[in-house]
Amino acid sequence: MTVAARHAPVAAPIFRTDAFINGRFVPAQSGRRFVAVNPATGQPLAEVASCDGKDVDLAVQAARTAFEDRRWAGLKPSERKRILVKFAELVRAAREDLALTETLNMGKPISDARSIDVRATADAIAYYGEAADKVYGEIAPTSDDNLALIMREPLGVVGCVTPWNFPMIMAAWKFAPALAMGNSVVLKPAEESPLTALKLAALAQEAGIPDGVFNVVPGLGEEAGAALGLHPDVDAIGFTGSTEVGRYFMRYSADSNLKRVALELGGKTGFVVAHDVPDLDAVAEAAAAGIFFNQGEMCTAGSRLLADWRIKDELVERIAAAAQKWMPDDPLNPEAPAGAVVSAVHQKRILAAIDEGLAEGARLVVGGTAVREETGGAFVAPTVFDGVEPHSALAQKEIFGPVLSVIGFDGLDQAVEIANNTVYGLGAAVWSADLGAAHKVARRFKAGVVYVNCFDADDITTPFGGVKQSGFGRDKSLHALEKYSDLKTIWTRL
Ligand code: NAD
Repeated sequence: MTVAARHAPVAAPIFRTDAFINGRFVPAQSGRRFVAVNPATGQPLAEVASCDGKDVDLAVQAARTAFEDRRWAGLKPSERKRILVKFAELVRAAREDLALTETLNMGKPISDARSIDVRATADAIAYYGEAADKVYGEIAPTSDDNLALIMREPLGVVGCVTPWNFPMIMAAWKFAPALAMGNSVVLKPAEESPLTALKLAALAQEAGIPDGVFNVVPGLGEEAGAALGLHPDVDAIGFTGSTEVGRYFMRYSADSNLKRVALELGGKTGFVVAHDVPDLDAVAEAAAAGIFFNQGEMCTAGSRLLADWRIKDELVERIAAAAQKWMPDDPLNPEAPAGAVVSAVHQKRILAAIDEGLAEGARLVVGGTAVREETGGAFVAPTVFDGVEPHSALAQKEIFGPVLSVIGFDGLDQAVEIANNTVYGLGAAVWSADLGAAHKVARRFKAGVVYVNCFDADDITTPFGGVKQSGFGRDKSLHALEKYSDLKTIWTRL
């Protein structure tokens, strides 16, 4: 089927384009809109309400009112559970519409949007829904004369500010635990990909989440995002995005009400391959998937391949072959392994990073160019550089695109040193036939998530997040509930 034919019926999904505040879809107070673009064609998709401080204020007021009158926080936890589990079911039922909207808006393959994004979003909402009535308080071991209860309480109004690489999943990892604990939420999706968040708002309402409890304010980062970060009546911010913008949220907090901030930021994962790996082909396949899946737009992307000199050349050859299987195609083609990068602007950034690598003298093995230019879309070929210096820009900067940098090492001690030689600390991986040695390396990595003889294993039950300038706080697992709740001690003299 031609690209034109595939995109023809696509006018069909009806987008929500207004903000969702206090249970109603409303335009921005200013009347301004921004254009959501399909990055696979360069064509506009919809004009979306461009919220600013006034709209954020309305959303925060609605969220505050809903929190204080306890229409959600005061429900029996089992009732919040019932509603959130229903929300998850509605997400599953809307799979085709949500997947198509996600793909059209940010360029990822439709098959991934269906099988990964929609599924993981529903799973996260259901998981935290199920958890809602399983959070217990404690009794402190004080003297016989006292009873000291330790209660876990919601914080109040939680702002969620999210990126465009997994728009629904990143949002659900934040709003679902926040809602489960009884908070009200104001979600600010990335301006590149606001459309699925607005559809989730309608589903949340249909599931029975009361008006004012779940609000969505699409808009630009420096307007809607900053207004939420600086708002004096927001109690906490859950942020996923770049390290640069993460710094802003720390400042916003300091300059406003010291709201708590949890940051999931960038990464530059070191993917270490020891000389003794038994199956180089399997490692090459995993390394290629680790950098080229989702167009390389992954915070955990295995962007630095550290290979023992003894096997490096052979491994690079096999990764170069595996890279061809990740050549981007029309994201609406169900067979497409990769799609468009999120925007023409981002494509330029990736190509500039490639040029910088060439200027630094790294050896381009494959890729390095835009592809499918005739479509008007933003596509980048899977790219592999060899001979990358550990201190070079290629090895240090997060590119957030399909660009792999290969670095040789001599022994696992040196591998650990190179892997840790970055400001980031999100992910790391080690492959070796010697499981004991691999685990010793795993312990020495400065990273929040480590993979041993695998890559990108994922489950909602495991904490996810980074150390160093990859941020702090953890999404996923029951630990995420701690970010959106606080402890209160209640003393009673007996
Ligand atoms: P970004 O930092 O540019 O934007 C993230 C969000 O912040 C968006 O909603 C944006 O509108 C908002 N924002 C931008 N400027 C702002 C400002 N001045 N004030 C307030 N808000 C502002 O990030 P992105 O380009 O959307 O996403 C890519 C980044 O996200 C990468 O660095 C990637 O590593 C990171 N990421 C991290 C994780 C993780 O879990 N650690 C997951 C996915 C993505």
